Amino acid sequence: MAELRITNCHTHTFTAAHVPKYYPGKALSIIKHVPGLVRVLAAALRLAGHREYADTLDRLHRFHEEARHTKQSEILDNMRAQYPGGTRFVVLPMDLALAGYGPVAADIRTQHDELSDMAGQDAYLGTVIPFAAFHPDTPGAVAELRRAIERLKFRGVKLYPRLGYAPDHPVLMNEVYPMLQDMNLPVMTHCSRGGVRGRNVAPHLANRYTEPAAFIPVMSKFPRLRVCLAHFGGQEDWRRYVDDGISPDDPDARRANWQVAIRDMIGSGDWPGLWTDISYTLFHFDDNLPFLKLFLQGEGAYADRLRARVLFGSDYYMTRREALSERAVCFRLRNGLGEGLFRQIAQTNPEIWLGERPDPGAV
Ligand SMILES: [Zn+2]
Repeated sequence: MAELRITNCHTHTFTAAHVPKYYPGKALSIIKHVPGLVRVLAAALRLAGHREYADTLDRLHRFHEEARHTKQSEILDNMRAQYPGGTRFVVLPMDLALAGYGPVAADIRTQHDELSDMAGQDAYLGTVIPFAAFHPDTPGAVAELRRAIERLKFRGVKLYPRLGYAPDHPVLMNEVYPMLQDMNLPVMTHCSRGGVRGRNVAPHLANRYTEPAAFIPVMSKFPRLRVCLAHFGGQEDWRRYVDDGISPDDPDARRANWQVAIRDMIGSGDWPGLWTDISYTLFHFDDNLPFLKLFLQGEGAYADRLRARVLFGSDYYMTRREALSERAVCFRLRNGLGEGLFRQIAQTNPEIWLGERPDPGAV
């Protein structure tokens, strides 16, 4: 068998310069600005016998250490050390300037430029697959997206509807999706109840923008567009699926659980442009892997379609908050799924989603 070339479809290298000054809140932002504080707190908790809280704080510290790097390439170097040589990384920037938590030090254009420079460095050639972040309310967003795709040769678009816009926003429908579909470029969009929410966006509204069904108008109008709903619906919906169960006879309940909704939408065959990735969610490894394996191993058309539409991704460096390292999860995943399934989600499917090889399931 040919050597495996992993493509991690969901990673981040953005730095503190791209995160708003007061995110996630004025009190918590102290942690970012007083670096030693978390460590001191963790040590105190450990002394007091609260080991679990101390571990959580230590991981938070590790996460902020990563975010505090001043260069995206420093984060990339740390990430690459977790993977075999030759692994490729889809790097997703974030446009958080309008999130409502104060100013960002470097705007999206600057973030794109740095990502582009990094992708072009000799040391990283072929390693970084840069995507552009797009927020429809950012002034000049369409022009910046065109520049990123046409001039900087970015390979797709990252959306984040929880920040406060619907996936069928007119700018997306009229200017962005037609361009992407014409150019055969994919969309990655955040799809879990966690993550960043625009400060003035009510939770129920953020969920309405983010739920899998929010993309139905998009996919109806652009059937050839490839859209990946990231995080396979998210940890919260996986937990509820596992712990609470869902009546098989209740279609509303199936739609309300985003993990099940994504599987049903893909499995139905009605939305051949729909994909999902396992980033972050599968870091709750022991809980979730047996289910993922069962979903991917199933027989029949429903399972065949799903198997062809799941992408490997990790969500580095968000995962620095978790106990298992990236390498530990990746190896457990490869072991647990077996070589054939792992190759499908980590190599074959990503190459199809990126438009590098023909799609047997295309419309
Ligand atoms: Zn992410």
